[in-house]
Amino acid sequence: MSAVDRRTVLKGVAATGAVAATGISLPAHGRVAKVAPPDAVGLLYDTTLCIGCKTCVVACREANDKKPDTRLSGGLWDMPSDLNGQTKNVIKLYKDPDSPERSYFKAQCLHCVDPACVGACMIGALQKREFGIVTYDSFFCSGCRYCQMVCPFEIPKFEWEKLAPKIVKCELCNHRLREGRQPGCTEVCPRHAVVYGKRTDLLAEAKRRIAESPKKYKGQKKGDPPKVYGETEGGGTQCLYLSHVPFEKLGLPDLSADPVPHVAQTVQHGIYQGFVAPVALYAVLGAVVFRNRKKQAATSGEPGNPTGGAE
Ligand code: SF4
Ligand code: SF4
Ligand code: SF4
Repeated sequence: MSAVDRRTVLKGVAATGAVAATGISLPAHGRVAKVAPPDAVGLLYDTTLCIGCKTCVVACREANDKKPDTRLSGGLWDMPSDLNGQTKNVIKLYKDPDSPERSYFKAQCLHCVDPACVGACMIGALQKREFGIVTYDSFFCSGCRYCQMVCPFEIPKFEWEKLAPKIVKCELCNHRLREGRQPGCTEVCPRHAVVYGKRTDLLAEAKRRIAESPKKYKGQKKGDPPKVYGETEGGGTQCLYLSHVPFEKLGLPDLSADPVPHVAQTVQHGIYQGFVAPVALYAVLGAVVFRNRKKQAATSGEPGNPTGGAE
């Protein structure tokens, strides 16, 4: 991002603070829900095809320059137990304690159609960009971690161990997409359990699979009709799921079709009304952003270079 772009955004932040200082508040539910752009891209993950090989986890690390997480294995093996500051994609195993039912589950950012994290990020570090991809630009991050509070899937993680920590989450390998390549995880999956494509095509393919084998797939709870998770949940997601066990057992919440961002707005309004005057809040956040830039520059040797986000 150019210096001009940065100035524009910071002016926008100042203007927003000035408007907020007038005491005018927008109704939390008065927003218009976003819809997926026609060229939205995403992933389709099908638990019936996944064998838990975790090749996608390794490929994700390599695609995103992340080190192996060997903390659970005394430094020997790459064994992330969950998403964390160095892991954007993880394969988990669900096992029913009382039956043979089991399933793998790929956890990562779902690239919501109307993302709560974007709504919560007051300085625009998280944004919905080209093809509907939700990107992160550490240059603008104040480290407030509101995105962590509002994400319905508990996706964003924080680099607690670093001097200048950033938020970490899947950005759909947009740096590879710009080079005409596909995401690291979909490129290597030996079973095509996770595939990349246009959201409309992925949705049609998921529905085709359900129509072909309706007994194979499940819904939200036991006994519910089969569904594509992400078609409507929380306003829809661009990463879609098919499962042979109820989605609730995989930890995917039962969300209505209403977008989640009004929750984020409620968080912000609570801050405005009960914490500090908005101008003071924005001044503090601005100071924190620049302090983070200085720390980042000191640790990387670079002058506060943005590391994320499609340009
Ligand atoms: S799209 Fe890229 S960052 Fe996201 S899970 Fe796949 S490999 Fe990881
Ligand atoms: S899954 Fe969470 S982090 Fe990803 S776009 Fe949705 S709200 Fe944001
Ligand atoms: S590479 Fe494919 S089959 Fe292997 S764990 Fe990942 S999604 Fe499952």
